Amino acid sequence: MQKKLVKTKSKKSLGQNFLVDKNILKKIIEINIINSESEIIEIGPGTGNLTDYLIKKNPKKIVTIEKDKELSKDLSNKFFGKAEVINKDILKFFNYEIFNKNTIIIGNLPYNISSQILVKFILDNKFKFRALIFMFQKEMANRILAHVNSKDYGRLSILSNWKFEIKKLFDIKPSSFSPRPKVDSSLLIFKEKIEKFPLKDPKNLEKITRILFNQRRKKIRKSIYYIFKNNKNIISQLNLNLDLRPQNLDSEVYYSLAAKYEKL
Ligand code: SAH
Repeated sequence: MQKKLVKTKSKKSLGQNFLVDKNILKKIIEINIINSESEIIEIGPGTGNLTDYLIKKNPKKIVTIEKDKELSKDLSNKFFGKAEVINKDILKFFNYEIFNKNTIIIGNLPYNISSQILVKFILDNKFKFRALIFMFQKEMANRILAHVNSKDYGRLSILSNWKFEIKKLFDIKPSSFSPRPKVDSSLLIFKEKIEKFPLKDPKNLEKITRILFNQRRKKIRKSIYYIFKNNKNIISQLNLNLDLRPQNLDSEVYYSLAAKYEKL
């Protein structure tokens, strides 16, 4: 018999929507890169529903990172000898040593900080891993997957596509969670591109997209002048139609803008 966790009340502030649908849990562990060779790091294990299923795949190692103190305590007892439980905030977690090129980072993420978690793994190249498998609200997943000239296209699409090949695995209905979220969810898998557009520091791409998309509906002219410090010479070399709007620029254009900005 499996030990049941005592705690059942979920904390909204920690984005706790536990995955309870066994069919979905089974479907997740059938993703073929999850196998006995895997070294898994699970973000936000909650009551350990997904952890339980991951353990069934007999991975080499499984480490979970959970911010909630009470849950962490329960999980440590429940998974003693099977999974390591670290009671930390993932956004403040910089213990690079536990990550390596075989690591699979997986999580039914707390939705209030899911994009921050993704961006952390985009910008900080000291985290090594083989793949990320993350659950998002469907609307957020659509923004990550969006293409140029669409309404969902924005900073998240550009940043994610700079680093990753991204695929949607499947969508999940609110009824698969407890408590039920208001919206559908999507599970995405991210693998690092073998050849990324070379940038000294992707934080520059983050900065440029932030400046441009803060003026989402405006022409890019003003922002481009601001980014390139009114330097008309450089700006004319960009060969850019300054009457376009941020969502009309291909992600490749953003990468090369970031590269030019790095050389200022
Ligand atoms: N994976 C579980 C729970 C998902 S809910 C399941 O599918 O059932 C999201 C989980 O992330 C909760 O357990 C919540 O406590 C945890 N969490 C929230 N913020 C976090 C943070 N900053 N760092 C680590 N875990 C966090």
